[in-house]
Amino acid sequence: MNVEQLEARLEQLSEEAVALLAQAGEREEAIQVKNRYLGRSGSVAELMGVLRELPNEHKRQAGQASNRCKKAIEGAFENTMASLAQQELERRMREETVDVTLPGRVTSIHLGHPLRQVENELIDIFSDLGFEVAEGPEIETDFFNFEALNFPPDHPARDMQDTFKLTDDRLLRTHTSPVQVRTMHAYDVPIRIISPGRVYRCDSDITHSPVFHQVEGLLIDRDVSFADLKGTLTAFAERCFGPGTNIRLRPSYFPFTEPSAEVDIECMFCSGDGCRVCSHTGWLEVLGAGMVDPNVFAASGIDADEYTGFAFGLGVERIAMLKQGVSDIRRFFENDLRFLEQF
Ligand SMILES: [Zn+2]
Repeated sequence: MNVEQLEARLEQLSEEAVALLAQAGEREEAIQVKNRYLGRSGSVAELMGVLRELPNEHKRQAGQASNRCKKAIEGAFENTMASLAQQELERRMREETVDVTLPGRVTSIHLGHPLRQVENELIDIFSDLGFEVAEGPEIETDFFNFEALNFPPDHPARDMQDTFKLTDDRLLRTHTSPVQVRTMHAYDVPIRIISPGRVYRCDSDITHSPVFHQVEGLLIDRDVSFADLKGTLTAFAERCFGPGTNIRLRPSYFPFTEPSAEVDIECMFCSGDGCRVCSHTGWLEVLGAGMVDPNVFAASGIDADEYTGFAFGLGVERIAMLKQGVSDIRRFFENDLRFLEQF
């Protein structure tokens, strides 16, 4: 092989290699092509084995031709690798792009249990009327739950509330009224509190649950009259059930208030015309209220000649059933998500 033939053959190899590199779709493939031509036992090295047979005056020319060939292949290899890297980058940019115009995923926002929602609404209403929230223990003594509220031992009114007794003296509170007694013992008058919380009675059907929730209110000051009670409850009814909601007071009996009243609100389903919900009376019973009995003041060391006060109590479940159209109280305690998610 003379030097011209060698040059032509090198030219051919470089053209082959450049063409193959231009077609390479992956970096691994380009590296293999480069090694096949430029490796230690590659085509170019193999061809250059003839160098020692060439006359000395042609060796320089042959070496230059070999360098041109290697440079061409190396240059093509670098271009291919750069172009593949660029393609890889573009592919990743495409695949990993965040489309900021996509609508967001809907996450459920927990507004709380339907009873908690109603309890919070009641607290808001009475807070706006100036009442502070007071809380107390769910395990009570007979004194705070009954005796201080004018239920003497063996008083028949104790049978009005089916009590869960723990010991002779300890019980699960049957109402949140003991919080009122505790407040009267701990603080000076004037007092203006509401006591929301869980209470317990041994009773269960579609309108009674052994555990339920009350919000009770107590206001004590000089010159508090029954008219103040009625005004407070009217303001509550309008906020809770809508402007213009009428209330009606019927004489009733509770040991801790005198006089006492059952408070009805005008039926919001029929506006007082009479319907199934209100048993065709046009009225719904929602709470009990009255003027604090002087015996309750006496048990808490408040001078009944100087101070008067009113108290009221309402059932959170009762309000929730009316406002949310729930007919069975037990739904609130079954923790069925299909029910809870409707609120
Ligand atoms: Zn009605």
